[in-house]
Amino acid sequence: MYRRKRRYRRSTKEKAKRIWMAFASMILITGMTGIFTFMAVVVLAAPKELGAQNILQWMDETRDVSSNEFLEGETDVSGNGLMAGMMDVSGNGILIGAMDVSGNGILIGAMDVSGNGIFAEAAKEPYIPLIVVDAGHGGEDVGCVEGGVAEKDVNLQIALLVKSALEEKGYRVMMPRETDEYLEKEERVELANSYQADAYVSIHQNTYEGTDKSISGIETWYDGSDDTRDSSRLAKLIHKATISSTEAVERELLECADFCVTGKTLMPACLIETGFLSNPQERALLSTTEYQEKIARGICNGIDLYFNPKTMYLTFDDGPSAECTDKVLDVLKEKGIKATFFLIGEYVEKYPEVARRIVAEGHTIGIHCYQHDYGVLYASKENFLADFQKAYDVIYQVTGVETKLFRFPGGSVNAYNKDVREEIIEEMTNRGYVYFDWNASLEDAAGENEPSQLIENAVSTTLGRKRIVMLAHDRVSNTALCLSELLEQFPEYKMEILTADTEPIQF
Ligand SMILES: [Zn+2]
Repeated sequence: MYRRKRRYRRSTKEKAKRIWMAFASMILITGMTGIFTFMAVVVLAAPKELGAQNILQWMDETRDVSSNEFLEGETDVSGNGLMAGMMDVSGNGILIGAMDVSGNGILIGAMDVSGNGIFAEAAKEPYIPLIVVDAGHGGEDVGCVEGGVAEKDVNLQIALLVKSALEEKGYRVMMPRETDEYLEKEERVELANSYQADAYVSIHQNTYEGTDKSISGIETWYDGSDDTRDSSRLAKLIHKATISSTEAVERELLECADFCVTGKTLMPACLIETGFLSNPQERALLSTTEYQEKIARGICNGIDLYFNPKTMYLTFDDGPSAECTDKVLDVLKEKGIKATFFLIGEYVEKYPEVARRIVAEGHTIGIHCYQHDYGVLYASKENFLADFQKAYDVIYQVTGVETKLFRFPGGSVNAYNKDVREEIIEEMTNRGYVYFDWNASLEDAAGENEPSQLIENAVSTTLGRKRIVMLAHDRVSNTALCLSELLEQFPEYKMEILTADTEPIQF
């Protein structure tokens, strides 16, 4: 356990040390003659001001790190892989080095050591999250025992399966205990905090102390009082994914800071009770490797979605409106979410302050139309283009935004634009505009729907897809009413804004 601790802790320092050692070897190997030749080459090539940024840029420009060919003036000290170094000993005593260690990926480091001892390093390695998988109880602390099955054993068996599932997906995993040993809760938390782990999941089994032995299912706990870390999203994802992989009874997702492991950890954390040992059927299941694997897969999928969320583009049409848009903006602001608004020109004229608020709060705007009248808009290509230009000009005058995004009223395929659709798309594309349809919807423009129905529509139309453009309308009051709750339904999605570079969703 402690051996493991040192291994994790040393990574940054170790990297720097490795780079320094590489230089030392390089200097020995090249010898003095080599260095002088080297200096001449490098001093000529180097820019005059050598800030850390400049050094990186200069390196990128002067050397080829993607191929195995070395540039002039570089040395190859092979061992674990490729290494190339460059030195610049200028009048200011600046030393610059570069390393390329191919193998598991390319690592590039740069050091800038000035007379003041300034050190800069850059590594272009993808960051690998470290997950703490905590098997509850252990040793003399057996947890609950029912029908000869001890909680500590089931916890450990599942935790080990979670570990291998995560490692298979490329995560780093640390387990406070990997054997049947006793460990204080505080010690587990301390380990996780000292490793600066990125997520913490504690695995437990439940028991019902009353007479009803039929109670079964999964419960997940997190500290809801701490909004500085995203424990609620982690808990929701693990809860949801584990219920889906096991088809177990869904019990509560509970906010509780009392558990030491969820309350005192510094990273997103949750505690999952994967079943009831007091229920004979569930106990039998929990004792099989097959069911434990289902649980492990669920926990692993939840964690993976936490770190690799899907993408959702939240879009609002037909605004700005008198009250609704402000309410929508209030919710988005509270949740720190940015969305895209396809505006109607005549309402922008009517509510210019609201349009400016949309922009001021970092949301994207696109063009819907000037006047939302299908008959007029789609009577001809010219009509459409004239209406579009009018909307464009108003939006530019009011907000100062020159947008390239638009959305067809009624979507790109509708009952009114059959005859003009193709030529409008061709002309708009030539003019550099890009249109977005949607692939999920609240269906809030289709008649009066209760807020709960709007949420159900949104959830059921996503179908678990990786990229969602969600259609909503910021002139429907029930949409504003349900928005906060609606956004809670999508922990697996990261909300993004549309840009001209976003690959469009089109019918
Ligand atoms: Zn519309």
